[in-house]
Amino acid sequence: MVCLQIILPQIEPLHISAPARCPIETCSGTTFRLHQKVVKPLRDHAYPQVIAHRYRCLTCGHTFRMYPGGVTHQPTTQRIRDLAVLLYRLGLSYGAVAELLEAWKIYMCKSQVYKAVQSTGITSKRRGNLIQELRILPLGNQPPLVRCHDVWLPIELITNERHQMMVNLNIPDQAQVSKYQEAINSIVATSTASIRLLTKAAA
Ligand SMILES: [Zn+2]
Repeated sequence: MVCLQIILPQIEPLHISAPARCPIETCSGTTFRLHQKVVKPLRDHAYPQVIAHRYRCLTCGHTFRMYPGGVTHQPTTQRIRDLAVLLYRLGLSYGAVAELLEAWKIYMCKSQVYKAVQSTGITSKRRGNLIQELRILPLGNQPPLVRCHDVWLPIELITNERHQMMVNLNIPDQAQVSKYQEAINSIVATSTASIRLLTKAAA
């Protein structure tokens, strides 16, 4: 058995840059005061919440938030949106992406998946068809299955102790691995996300 592993970008919850200029377009303010630290709830496996910094512009008085890397004002992290886009580009429909994420306990509805894909400007031309179908087993103890090249394969989302997130696709037939690797590589290589691909032997 070979495990193809797609590694999603890390989040740096403690790294929040200081603002360089005021987000108000008509204001040229460059000096700010840290006004407040606020908790931002997130839909991300490893980080259910992060701290954001609220700054006040000393020129115009406007207050705004600065977020850690990989986090924006949106309820999902960038890497979860990247993951949704990646799954769509591997062949799943918008609805199937939402279903698979839900099986992994990440809540992003079909229209949010659609918006995430649209925001990247990806056309259907740059979409692959590696994954043809999704099957979520009712009992929930087994990983969801995806049908690739007419074989059902388990697909899992793993979070390690360093809060890294990985998608594992287990391929039983070693002779088929390069075919999968090629298909996934072509998607990951043109991805806006910094996603790496590793091949390793599963235990
Ligand atoms: Zn300002």
